Amino acid sequence: MMAQYLALREEAGDCLLFYRMGDFFELFFDDAKKAAAILDIALTTRGEHNGVPIPMCGVPVHSAESYLARLIKGGCRVAIAEQTETPAEAKERARKEGRVSKALVARDIVRFVTAGTLTEEALLEPRRANVLAAACEVRGTVGIAACDISTGRMELEECAPDRLGAALARLGASEVVVPDGWEMAPDDAIGRSGHEFSSDGGEERLKGIHGVATLDGFGTFTRPMLAAAGGLIAYLDHVGRGALPLLLPPEPRSGEATLAMDEATRASLEILESTQGTRKGSLIEAIDRCVTGAGARQLAEDLAAPLTDRSAIAERLELVEWLHDDALLREDLRAALRSLPDVGRALGRVVAGRGSPRDLGQLRDGLSGARAISDRLAQRDDLPVLLKALLPHLGGHGALVDHFARALVPAPPTERGQGGYIAEGYDAALDELRRTSGNARRAIAALEAKYREETGVAALKIKHNNVLGYFIEVPSRHADKLMEADSGFSHRQTMAGAMRFNALALHEEASRITEAGAHALAAEEAHFEDLVAEAVAARREIAGTAAALARIDVSAGQAERAAEGGWIRPEVVEGLSLDIEGGRHPVVEAALAAQGERFVANDCRLGTHDRLWLIGGPNMGGKSTFLRQNALIVLLAQAGGFVPAQSARIGMVDRLFSRVGAADNLARGRSTFMVEMVETAAILAQASERSFVILDEVGRGTSTYDGLALAWAVAEAVHETNRCRCLFATHYHELARLAETCEALSLHHVRAREWKGDLVLLHELADGPADRSYGLAVARLAGVPPKVVSRAKAVLEKLEKGRAETGGLAAGLGDLPLFAAAQETREEQCDTLREKLRDMDVDALAPRDALEILYDLKREAGTEP
Ligand code: ADP
Repeated sequence: MMAQYLALREEAGDCLLFYRMGDFFELFFDDAKKAAAILDIALTTRGEHNGVPIPMCGVPVHSAESYLARLIKGGCRVAIAEQTETPAEAKERARKEGRVSKALVARDIVRFVTAGTLTEEALLEPRRANVLAAACEVRGTVGIAACDISTGRMELEECAPDRLGAALARLGASEVVVPDGWEMAPDDAIGRSGHEFSSDGGEERLKGIHGVATLDGFGTFTRPMLAAAGGLIAYLDHVGRGALPLLLPPEPRSGEATLAMDEATRASLEILESTQGTRKGSLIEAIDRCVTGAGARQLAEDLAAPLTDRSAIAERLELVEWLHDDALLREDLRAALRSLPDVGRALGRVVAGRGSPRDLGQLRDGLSGARAISDRLAQRDDLPVLLKALLPHLGGHGALVDHFARALVPAPPTERGQGGYIAEGYDAALDELRRTSGNARRAIAALEAKYREETGVAALKIKHNNVLGYFIEVPSRHADKLMEADSGFSHRQTMAGAMRFNALALHEEASRITEAGAHALAAEEAHFEDLVAEAVAARREIAGTAAALARIDVSAGQAERAAEGGWIRPEVVEGLSLDIEGGRHPVVEAALAAQGERFVANDCRLGTHDRLWLIGGPNMGGKSTFLRQNALIVLLAQAGGFVPAQSARIGMVDRLFSRVGAADNLARGRSTFMVEMVETAAILAQASERSFVILDEVGRGTSTYDGLALAWAVAEAVHETNRCRCLFATHYHELARLAETCEALSLHHVRAREWKGDLVLLHELADGPADRSYGLAVARLAGVPPKVVSRAKAVLEKLEKGRAETGGLAAGLGDLPLFAAAQETREEQCDTLREKLRDMDVDALAPRDALEILYDLKREAGTEP
């Protein structure tokens, strides 16, 4: 056995090996130690290997799923080794091979369970997509393939290497596969052999899977996209041991079609998860009113990838508005949707070959529910464009639904083993078999009465178990009668206090039951397979229906949320303005409401002539909240939903950036200040005129002078170079002086008052610089002891006196050359290089001279300007 185990262990690679032994999956060696720790189960030993006891732990097969779920959550992947023959078959094989030793049951790894390749209902979160992604690089461009195998959706995209992080962040993949040794691979990525990432191979596989001669019908795919698809499919092949899950035709996604947000932005805006890593406290939690899991998954996707196509945004908004204005219809639709099963995931399991009768029942109920919804909607003559486009996907499964309705019982079971899921009246032969076994059962009941009478033993019973089948049982003290030679009963087993017998008539009836039962099971099995095949053949259409239902649920949920909170339909326009009147932060507002407090709405008006707002004011005054609420309103609007404001006119945003000063961030290995600067650098490199940036206390993570200097330079660069719309919160008063030189920058502050020595935060935004800082007042508010506060006051007075004398921290900044001028000096330096290059006659150069010149140029470029 050890040899077999070790061979499988080798094959399992870095996955834990679940080794099937009877009713348990056993783990050995390091696997056992790791699993026992994660699962908190007993670690024992079994036998010895090289003279050392072998650590072992095990989980029962019937409850393996819940253990698997915990291991996957704990970051493990698991290889499942099943017994591929019965002990009897193993014995027979050993006999044929002429072996006398104990026969070892053959085992093989039947599949790998990994975070990105789950389909089991119990292991998946209903309201969250489960994405597996593959990424690789072809000639300097990154290709990404992503799929959710629980629903079969597959997306291919390509991007520049520096956008890989943002793209993966948008996908939120639970597993990423990359070529071995790829230097851009994200942490935790799974390396696979590089030759699996071939674009030709990927293309061939996709064509084969979808039975097409060309992929053109699905869209245009580039080499990097196809290479990534190749890697993805090869990995799916590997984990499924050759059984591919449901894959719908790939959809090309262009990076430009969505609002770009990098990982730091997503994290700081707490879109799908709060900074604690939970759904609680996130944007999605505050707005999700979907009544189906598929709707919630679609909403998460919408929020992760808001649109940049104005007409597509308008279509979504139109549908939300239509549902918003008709509360009755909305309630109707939501009630209908609520009762529907998760069609997409049921389909995923069916296509993956792990479907149950219950899944087929779910397809039937879901599709017939969709048809009912479509009938209901078709009566309206004012359907929004988007809904008109969805309608054809809702109906159209008439034949399949009717067939499934006839074939299946109303509530089919999850297990096939016992049968009983094919409806009566569907198959006359099956009905006949069932009648036969029903008759036999009744005959057995009659036999019991007959035997009691014949033997005079009132306590005689006919029982059934899995080992003996049917048998007669009497208490031992009454057994004599049945033991007599001519009694017609034959002895089978002696128990404590009871004896068991067989009888010819009983045996005959029992055989009839067994036989009819086996035939009936086989008949049901055959029907099951036909039904599965029918569903698989219609998989694309069924997935289309599931997607349409999800979209309607999202829109109705958005409408519901809007109605609840008095939200409005935003306008997404062409220009570069951002006009939000009476904006609120959905999450903070909800949290305040829960404590009976009111949220103070604030306006934000950015335009080409006033695109950078510098916002000062005391800590806890509401600066961060204001920054984020505007970013979230943009995001919600471009995702096609209503927004928490009185009015919103948003010049479409191409990229959204959010950065929070390092002090608020958790250290992630690198120093927090380093993280802050890396992220800030990304903004300065990437933000365009169309972008919207919020910067919260940038520069806070370092010393005062450094921090002020950096904040100053960053604000200037954003103003002069990026020219994007930007909200910049800071506690450096000195930055106010930027207003003198930056014409599109204006000063604002969150209002506060000291009243009878107490600080009152008004959370209200006002024009102009902050009049003073309220640090000490905030400290008092926070419970810093009065003694400390009054000491701080004395120090402050001293400092302020010093400032008055010297001009303070920002003294001398008035003499600084303008940002633009500072840039020019640098550019001039560079231009000498450019001139040299321009004047060079490359054709006339000997290779040796060329090399020499290259050295010169490099030397020159390397010198500090
Ligand atoms: P700052 O960034 O200025 O330190 P925050 O934005 O973090 O302040 O806000 C601090 C707290 O003030 C929030 O947690 C919230 O409870 C409250 N707050 C912020 N903005 C508002 C508002 N507009 N209306 C009501 N309360 C608010």
